[in-house]
Amino acid sequence: MEKLNNSIDRSWIDKWNHPFIISGPCSAESEQQILETAKRLNSSYVQGFRAGIWKPRTKPNNFEGIGKKGLEWLHKVKKSTGLMVATEIANAEHVKLAISFGIDILWIGARSTASPFAIQEIADALEKENNKIILVKNPIHPDIELWIGALERLSGKGIRKLGVIHRGFYTYQNSRYRNQPNWNLVLNFRTLLPRIPILCDPSHICGKTEGILDIAKKAYHFQYEGLMIESHCDPDQAWSDAQQQITPENLLKMLKTLTHLEKSD
Ligand code: PEP
Ligand code: MN
Repeated sequence: MEKLNNSIDRSWIDKWNHPFIISGPCSAESEQQILETAKRLNSSYVQGFRAGIWKPRTKPNNFEGIGKKGLEWLHKVKKSTGLMVATEIANAEHVKLAISFGIDILWIGARSTASPFAIQEIADALEKENNKIILVKNPIHPDIELWIGALERLSGKGIRKLGVIHRGFYTYQNSRYRNQPNWNLVLNFRTLLPRIPILCDPSHICGKTEGILDIAKKAYHFQYEGLMIESHCDPDQAWSDAQQQITPENLLKMLKTLTHLEKSD
C-alpha cells in the first residue's frame, strides 16, 4: 500500500491551484451535442470535458454508447477549446482507440472497477502508455479492497498519474441518493492512500439534479481535489441519465458559488 501511495504522480492535478473540474454529458450522442455543450462549458472554471462513448448499462436494451465515432468529436473539442478530454474505457480495445485519438484522461467505471480481469487487461494495455491520466471510480458496492486492488494493478504496470472518483455506493435501502455517499468510507480510503487525488461525482451520487450542489460543497469541505459533474446542452433530451444532468450555465453558476466558499474558508 505504501509503495502504491509513494508511486503516485500528482503533478497533473497539483499544477492547478484550485479544484480540477471535469464536466460534459453522460453520453456522447451527436457531434452537434458534444461541440455545443463543450462550447458552453469552456471557461476558466472547467479544465476537462467528459463524454461516455462506451456505456456499460446495468440492463440490456438501453443505449450502450455511440462508439468510436465519438472519439473524433472529443478530438474536435480538444482542438477547438483546449480543454482536456476524458472518456470511459472498459477493455484493451477501448484503451488503444482512445489513445489513438489523443484522449487525455481515461476513467474506469464503477462496474469495471469491480472486475479484476477487466482491470488487469486495461493495465496491461496501458503499460506502454503509462503517462496517461487514469481515474478509477469506486466499485459499485462499498468494497474498498477491490478499489485499492484496481489501483495496485495499474500501478504495477508503471501507471503513476492516477486519481479516483467517488461516485457513491449501491445500497439496498431506500435513500434520497441514487448511490449513498458513505463519506467515512472514502475518508478512510484517503487515510490509507493520502497521495491519491480524489474527485467527487455528485451526479451519480444524487441521480437527480437536486442535491448536486450540496454534495459538491461537502466534497470541497473535505478538500477533495476536484469534481466530475454531468452537463448537457439540453438535459431533458439526454439519451442516458437525463434526470441528473444540468445545463452548462447551471454548472458554471454552481462553480462560482463553490469558488466563493473556497475563498471565504
Ligand atoms: C458515467 O460516468 O456516466 C457512469 C456510467 O458512471 P458510473 O460508472 O459511476 O456508474
Ligand atoms: Mn452517467
